[in-house]
Amino acid sequence: MEQKVSENIIIELKGLTKKYGYGDTESFALKDFDLTIKRGEFIMIMGPSGCGKTTLLNIIGLLDRATYGDYNLNGENVAGISASRQAKLRAKKIGFIFQNFNLIEDLSILENVALPLVYTGRSKTSRLKSASTALKRFHLQEKEYYLPYQLSGGQQQRVAIARAIVSNPEIILADEPTGNLDSRASKAVMEELSAIHKEGNTIIMVTHNPALTVYATRVINMLDGAIDTDIKTVSDANLPQPVSVKIVKKLPEPKEPKKRKKRKNSRRKK
Ligand code: ADP
Ligand code: MG
Repeated sequence: MEQKVSENIIIELKGLTKKYGYGDTESFALKDFDLTIKRGEFIMIMGPSGCGKTTLLNIIGLLDRATYGDYNLNGENVAGISASRQAKLRAKKIGFIFQNFNLIEDLSILENVALPLVYTGRSKTSRLKSASTALKRFHLQEKEYYLPYQLSGGQQQRVAIARAIVSNPEIILADEPTGNLDSRASKAVMEELSAIHKEGNTIIMVTHNPALTVYATRVINMLDGAIDTDIKTVSDANLPQPVSVKIVKKLPEPKEPKKRKKRKNSRRKK
């Protein structure tokens, strides 16, 4: 029984503190921060500028480290692990979405989406195939060979979501993902995130827009590096369960038809 409860906990932060500066310049981006997150939660984090939201997300995403405190990810204490172990875990378990999309300007849309798979050791063809599948999900298959600047903001953010989910991570972190989008593009992005959540993934998203909290199962307000209010709008029992067939792996790996060489149509599939 005990076991089962803890299996549902995906992230556990205890006494997490992030300190900048020393002496007179000392300040705390996070102060003695405790948070337990269950699999399948969609958490929205709100709070005034400078209250520590990005710091929190970066630490959860293993992009940054706390000055002290504990961080358990799937039961493994990751606070003190090596940078290379952090990078491996990050590649496997975590997808990021940023306010400014953070696409690489001189890579095609397809190459951008395939980027997180570099760490998997899979062949380039297989990586691009998965990226293509991910883009299809967001109806962006026509844009595969475009460069980021040729897409609208809303399209770029959907590319960024495709990149975030291409490796099937269980956790999606989004730092103000709709901050640079108009309301129509925001809605499209939120609908995609909501669909990803309903497949049983855990999402932690920072936003300034209270209207978006309708998508959340839990809303946390932060103040001065700590939790001010923490409200669950969906009970734990009603959180979505992980679906066994996942987003990108849905398509079987391509079985190269070895002998069948067609002259006219090259095997390069769009
Ligand atoms: P938010 O995302 O809520 O706006 P941040 O997490 O970016 O807040 O920042 C929290 C606090 O930590 C702020 O006061 C900010 O000035 C400070 N801070 C963030 N990064 C650094 C840094 N590299 N050096 C010094 N202070 C920092
Ligand atoms: Mg921020």
